[in-house]
Amino acid sequence: MKTIGLIGGMSWESTAVYYRQINEAVRRRHGGLASAEILLRSVDFSRIVALQQAGRWDQAADALARIGNQLAGAGADCVLICTNTMHKVADAVAEKAGVPLIHIVDVVGRALADAGAKRPLLLATRYTMEQDFYRTRLADRFGIKAMVPEAADRGLVHDVIFEELCCGIVRSQSRQGYLDVIERGRAAGADAVILGCTEIGLLIGPSHTDLPVFDSTLLHAEAAVDFADGLLSPAMQAA
Ligand code: GLU
Repeated sequence: MKTIGLIGGMSWESTAVYYRQINEAVRRRHGGLASAEILLRSVDFSRIVALQQAGRWDQAADALARIGNQLAGAGADCVLICTNTMHKVADAVAEKAGVPLIHIVDVVGRALADAGAKRPLLLATRYTMEQDFYRTRLADRFGIKAMVPEAADRGLVHDVIFEELCCGIVRSQSRQGYLDVIERGRAAGADAVILGCTEIGLLIGPSHTDLPVFDSTLLHAEAAVDFADGLLSPAMQAA
C-alpha cells in the first residue's frame, strides 16, 4: 500500500472524517487489521482563515506548498489538501510536492460525470462558490456547469460552515436552512447537490434529500485509498 499524505486541519472537524473514512475503506477492502499508511500534517486553522479573510492567498499557497513538500520528503506518495477552498492554491502545492496531488474537483467531477449529473448545486464557502477556481475546473474538465445559490443563501451556507461546523456545532435549524437552500436550487433546475466543503457532511447527507448528493470529503478519501491501492487512474493524479 502506498503512503497517503494529508494536509489537514482546515478544519480538523473534517480531517477527522478523512482519517476515519480512509481507514474504514482500507478495512473494507483488505479486511482484518489492515489500516492505511498515512502522514498527516494538521495546521492551525485560525492562521489560514486570517489569510483567507485578508485575501493573502499567496501566503496561504506558500504555507501549504511547504507542507506538501515536507510530506513528500517524509515519505508520502501523494498529497491531498483536505479542504475544497484551499484548492484555490492547489497548483502551487502540486508543483512543490513533486508527488501526485489528488485534486478534489477532479474526484467530484468524475463522480458527477459517471452519475450523469448535469446541473449540480454547489454548496461551499463563499470563496469556492463565488470565485472561479472550482466551477471552471468542473466545466473545463468534465463539462459540468455547477449552479450556486442566490446571494443570501450563499451567505447562510458560508456562515454555518465557519461559525458552526468548523467549531464542532451541528444545529438542526441550520440543517433545515441548508435543506431549504437545496429546495430552492432544485426549483431553479438543480439535478444534484455537491457538498463542496469538507464539513457539510457533518450536517446533511443523502438521507436528508432525494436529490443525489456528492460529498467531497467521502469521495476524496475514497480516491486516496484508490491511489494507495494502485487503482487511481493517472488522469486523476495530475494537478
Ligand atoms: N473545509 C472547508 C472546505 O472544504 C472550508 C474551510 C476552508 O476554508 O478551508 O472548503
